Amino acid sequence: MVDRSAPEFESSLELYQRASLLELGGLADAARWRLHPENVVTYIVDRNINYTNVCVADCKFCAFYRRPKHLEGYVLSFEEIGRKIDEVKALGGVQILMQGGHNPYIPFQWYLDLMCYIKRHHPIHIHAFSPSEIDFFAGRFGMTIEEVIRELVAAGLDSVPGGGGEILVQEVRDRVAGKKAGADRWLEVMETAHRLGLKTSVTMMYGLGETLADRIEHLFRVREVQARTGGFTAFICWPLQPEHTEMADTPKTDAMTYLRTQAIARIVLDNVPNIQASWVTMGPKIGQVALRFGANDFGSLMMEENVVSAAGTTWRMTLPEMRRLIADAGYTPKTRRQDYTIIEEAA
Ligand code: SF4
Repeated sequence: MVDRSAPEFESSLELYQRASLLELGGLADAARWRLHPENVVTYIVDRNINYTNVCVADCKFCAFYRRPKHLEGYVLSFEEIGRKIDEVKALGGVQILMQGGHNPYIPFQWYLDLMCYIKRHHPIHIHAFSPSEIDFFAGRFGMTIEEVIRELVAAGLDSVPGGGGEILVQEVRDRVAGKKAGADRWLEVMETAHRLGLKTSVTMMYGLGETLADRIEHLFRVREVQARTGGFTAFICWPLQPEHTEMADTPKTDAMTYLRTQAIARIVLDNVPNIQASWVTMGPKIGQVALRFGANDFGSLMMEENVVSAAGTTWRMTLPEMRRLIADAGYTPKTRRQDYTIIEEAA
């Protein structure tokens, strides 16, 4: 557990609370260059596929899900998913990021069959099933986390996305997402995945009414797991998008908060190699500025994005735009795989 009275915790919190924006940015930028001495910013061409929006978790911040039996509930067919994969491959895509609601009507075999179908007919790297989905499968199908992950991997799963992390402090989760994996369980899924040889990303969605100390605790907990496993490839943070959710009255945080939060993450998470800028929620300009606040990666082209866009705040860009934004910010854009290996030299 994180000791909030430990000197390092207090000094990190103090820095986050009191340092000027540019001081924080400078420290984060220095940490970025220590880890990534090349003048390169990476990105990945992939596609979000949300295989179902039916969910029983009822997270207060979610505008994407529909309760069972709702007329707008859906489950994509294997063929629809295959078509989406073909479309992203035609654009040079190397990965799908596949996540969905906690749908009580889908049997476990469906997920296994889906993995096999993709690998047989539309082979691509499958980055899928956030820890809260894996936890849901374990509860629903009477399996351990390890059994769920082993079976999914045997069927074709390649890596696990860090969705559903929100704030990894139980009191915060109880308030906004009481029905899904708790903080300990979320991290247990990640640690199990790492132990079984999978790489994962890790996220933080802030602005849920948590304290600054809660955010620092989230970072410390991630760092603790990473010290044991080394399995996190990248960290991404973004603010709550409250529109169209039960939290619509929650005030939105500003770009300054985003830059400060990403910067303190880069400083604290000295054992997590990559930080992704979240231009999808913050827009391309703040995305560029974020490259001076600790980020070394521009994330995904996000050919399809349903979850953030359901809340109404989303940005899109084309591949040439993305490369131009990176170049205009002063870096060489390079496309990468999920494990951050570079695919090609920039033209
Ligand atoms: S965030 Fe995920 S788990 Fe929560 S309600 Fe939305 S779809 Fe369900």
